[in-house]
Amino acid sequence: MYTFKTNNENETQDLAETLASFLKPGDVLTLDGDLGAGKTTFAKGLARGLGVKRTVNSPTYTIIKEYRGRLPLYHMDVYRLEDSDEDIGFDEYFNGIGVTVVEWSSFIEEFLPKERLEIEIKKIDDDERKLILTPKGERFQTICKELKQ
Ligand code: ADP
Ligand code: MG
Repeated sequence: MYTFKTNNENETQDLAETLASFLKPGDVLTLDGDLGAGKTTFAKGLARGLGVKRTVNSPTYTIIKEYRGRLPLYHMDVYRLEDSDEDIGFDEYFNGIGVTVVEWSSFIEEFLPKERLEIEIKKIDDDERKLILTPKGERFQTICKELKQ
């Protein structure tokens, strides 16, 4: 487990942007935390780090949005799948040529790949957040170590 504190949304985006530089095709990141914690904010920073030019917004109503960058970014918000166990073809994304980031990933736990980087965001204060990164698999372990330096 690797923890980070941020004091405003820019710091959260900067952290995500740095993380993006370590990513490669097929990487899966999960984002969990309450509404307003900063999941979409983190995804925006990730997009910036992947060289996405378009504005990234919450895909709540579409579930999945794709963006073109250095690598494609697949941005999912699976909040609306809470009460269903429907597989909407997750593996195509998880094993695809892009990076996938999943907001509210706990709702599709059964479909998540074994190797992934779990990110939990906790709201401490209006502008203060605690980010808890739990690497699943050796590759993300290494990435977290580098990110901490
Ligand atoms: P979520 O996707 O988890 O519902 P959002 O990213 O949409 O959350 O919203 C987070 C809100 O919290 C934004 O309005 C953002 O400006 C604000 N915020 C304040 N401080 C931070 C911080 N340190 N990190 C991320 N967001 C922050
Ligand atoms: Mg969101």
